[in-house]
Amino acid sequence: MAATLDAPLDATLDGWVARRMGLALPLSRPAVDAWQRARLAERVAEARRTSPFYRTRPGWPDGPIDTFDDLARLPFTRPADLVRNDPPLVALSQSAVARVVTLQTSGTSGPPKRLHFSADELEATLDFFHHGMGTFTRPGDRVAILFPGERPGSVGDALVGALGRLGAVSLLVPADATAAEAAEHLRLARPAVVVGPPVRLLAVAREQAADGGVPIRLRAALASSERLSPAVARALASIWGCAVHDHWGMTETGYGGAVDCAAHAGCHLREADLLVEIVDPANGARLPPGACGEVVVTTLQPRAVPLLRYRTGDLARLDDTPCACGSVLRRLTGFAGRIGAAVPLPGGGEISLETLDDALFALPSVADFSATLVGGDPAVLELLVATPAGGRTAATRAAVWAAADEIPAVRAAAARGRLGLRVALVDAVRHDGKRRLLRRAA
Ligand SMILES: [Zn+2]
Repeated sequence: MAATLDAPLDATLDGWVARRMGLALPLSRPAVDAWQRARLAERVAEARRTSPFYRTRPGWPDGPIDTFDDLARLPFTRPADLVRNDPPLVALSQSAVARVVTLQTSGTSGPPKRLHFSADELEATLDFFHHGMGTFTRPGDRVAILFPGERPGSVGDALVGALGRLGAVSLLVPADATAAEAAEHLRLARPAVVVGPPVRLLAVAREQAADGGVPIRLRAALASSERLSPAVARALASIWGCAVHDHWGMTETGYGGAVDCAAHAGCHLREADLLVEIVDPANGARLPPGACGEVVVTTLQPRAVPLLRYRTGDLARLDDTPCACGSVLRRLTGFAGRIGAAVPLPGGGEISLETLDDALFALPSVADFSATLVGGDPAVLELLVATPAGGRTAATRAAVWAAADEIPAVRAAAARGRLGLRVALVDAVRHDGKRRLLRRAA
């Protein structure tokens, strides 16, 4: 496995967070908690004063909000509030806004979410990428980026900026490169580190492992922007002989949110910027550490769009125990996908993309797939499976069929005669936006 980096403490994520908090190293949990309580009180009061949305919010509690328990008295902010933007959430004058990001909700043609960022926030994002990537990147490393990066302000573009600060060399792999073309890019460039969406990384790794060419060896791979299935993490580690790091974040958190350390025991949160709660998605009640629920974020730095108790729609657990890596920063673990993304099966049970990912990506001949539940009775689960070179065989098809059939909810629905399976092998699948389980009428 890859070596861990012996970075000086102030160059670690803890070091970065400590600097942003004005606290001494090593960080202690009580000191971080006290800092967060003080910032929470400031941010809540400031949002109430400067953001039209929060200023006019009904149901606002009396008295200061300056403890973690007090926070639970505030109403939630939801993605729909950002979409409606009436009253607007933005707390800065237009002249102080450095960038506006428009996010189309995937799969809909409804109005988009708009987020505004100040120059300070964009700088903090670059700074987080710099120190997050520094967990496994050394000065002089070549780093291949498999995110789109041609557009200024894109994630790839921000990574190029952050890696420049680290003294690393960025290589942008064209977004439209096939898995085979991307594998050739990696062979020629010989990077130490690769970053990209997990299934894009997997497709490249499996293509390269199957094509009989020179093996690619890396120190580390960072998977971001979609859930990293444990099956994908294992495959990447095995094919590339590297450490595989996960990253959690979304545009609402300033892109970066939390990054996996050398202990691979969850993603450490950037706690100088974000306060995280986990709540029961059904009733909004706060859940204790360790319980799986919806990730709710409150921003702790001045923001163009302050967010108080923002319901992210992501399911995960919060771990506040000390990490084996030595960091005291809280971790998000057990990422379980998006709320409401599971699709009910006829006669009971449900199927999710996460379940299918965990089952199908365990097969070495699966590089990517799309899944569609076709309505009707029986319904049909249609799997279009991309295989690496030489993988389009009857044996692969049978293995995919068997792996899907072994998922308990699929097996139960099939046994009731309410669900059929259809498997087709293809060279590549296209996803319209982020990967998700699709539904279609018969
Ligand atoms: Zn750790």
